[in-house]
Amino acid sequence: MVKLGVKAGDKVGTLAWNDHRHLEAYFAIPSIGAVLHTINIRLSEEHLTYIINNAEDKVLLVDEGMIPIIEKIKDNIPTVEHFIILTDEETLPETSLKPVQLYEAFIKGANETFQFLQDIPETNPAGMCYTSATTGNPKGVLYTHRSIVLHSMMLCFADTIAISERDVAMPVVPMFHVNAWGIPFATVSLGTKLVLPGPNFNGEVLAELIEKEKVTMTAGVPTIWIELAKVLETGKYDTSSLTRVVCGGSAAPEGLIRKYEKEFNIPFLHAYGMTETSPVVTVARLKSHQEELPYDEQLKYKGKQGLPTILIEAKVVGENGEEVKHDGEEMGELLLRGPWITDEYYREPEKTKEAVQDGWLRTGDIVTVDEEGFIKIVDRTNDLIKSGGEWISSVDLENALMAHEAVFEATVIAVPHERWQERPVAFIVLKDGKDVTEEELRQYLLEEKKFAKWWLPDKFIFLDEIPKTSVGKFLKRELREQYRDVLLKEQNV
Ligand code: AMP
Repeated sequence: MVKLGVKAGDKVGTLAWNDHRHLEAYFAIPSIGAVLHTINIRLSEEHLTYIINNAEDKVLLVDEGMIPIIEKIKDNIPTVEHFIILTDEETLPETSLKPVQLYEAFIKGANETFQFLQDIPETNPAGMCYTSATTGNPKGVLYTHRSIVLHSMMLCFADTIAISERDVAMPVVPMFHVNAWGIPFATVSLGTKLVLPGPNFNGEVLAELIEKEKVTMTAGVPTIWIELAKVLETGKYDTSSLTRVVCGGSAAPEGLIRKYEKEFNIPFLHAYGMTETSPVVTVARLKSHQEELPYDEQLKYKGKQGLPTILIEAKVVGENGEEVKHDGEEMGELLLRGPWITDEYYREPEKTKEAVQDGWLRTGDIVTVDEEGFIKIVDRTNDLIKSGGEWISSVDLENALMAHEAVFEATVIAVPHERWQERPVAFIVLKDGKDVTEEELRQYLLEEKKFAKWWLPDKFIFLDEIPKTSVGKFLKRELREQYRDVLLKEQNV
């Protein structure tokens, strides 16, 4: 990299899955003072072009499978001076990218005794990530050497994720999604064995890797664990090595937690964070006295996003800025402060001003805090449903619906309504071979899940698939756009 002319402060972009070459880049790039810009490879061409230009990436490290997409945008990313192809192949694939080299050949030519920089100021940037594009253009967040080191140390605390040298860690969360939640940094710093599943994984592949490599800790979004659960239900795989499945990025449904813990005997650890927060800021690990509770009581805590970790300050404020009561009922926006929380969006002074106030990051997440201090997300600011002036939590409805035995996936959005301003509408994907009617779901929510009648979705729409963001979250914005009129039409408005 240095021979190519990469200097301290330059950005080097990676478009890569979880594998050993990407891991090498994770350490080599910051260690010459440059900035590791992990790019979400599932973004649209438009967003890829936007962020490569916004970051001014000088070199791009590209997985072979990504070449066709980068070829399409290559003429619109003028800051990029070199392309390096990440592949096992020994000859360069056919490509119009220029100038281009093979990664393995590229590093073979390098001096093995190269001295990495020893005196990089700890507050210099080391990494960079853009937030997922559920709202508008992606926004860049810089991580410093200091923030990465402190966040890594936090991940190793016994009361958070408890990463240790004894673990065999398999981050399924992509290395382009908030640095695979910091797991590559924490594990390498301890000498922990890492299992990197590469580009082509599914439930079967993950189950095989867990059994073969005796994985003790793995991490990913709920969709991954829903997928893996289908495979584990067959009973074909030995997953007894697992001491925890870490789940974050979206709310972990209680039914899923119960399934892993009670059916598969795999402890399930729910955690929460954002691109802006490195990401981990809360973990739902039970306190010792909570472990004495009956399982159903424990589950209520395990399904929450949990307690702020060491060094993270959290407060929850209502509309007038006053802090809410810690009663598990009153809702407010979660504000965060701490050494791995960003204080700005890259080159976005206006968006920074909105999000960072008096040193606190406004998360946009609406939460409650209970007497134990456990934080529970009830919605995103723009996902709350306000029906006749009262809040309805789409997350609670989704959790309940996903616990139904016929439901594979469910999401609930706010849809404009003439009388109530907004009403919930549910989107349901059924499990293979299962069936349930709208009326049955309604009865189930009322009678089994004890929802108030006015919380019930006005409509249940059955889909083959729920659209998802590039990191596997439900793409509510798309559903909101597509079904904006669905209730108004019925009322002939
Ligand atoms: P991202 O920056 O793409 O990781 O998105 C961060 C957002 O994802 C947060 O602000 C939350 O709205 C949501 N999120 C992350 N983790 C969780 C979780 N465990 N439960 C519910 N929502 C979550």
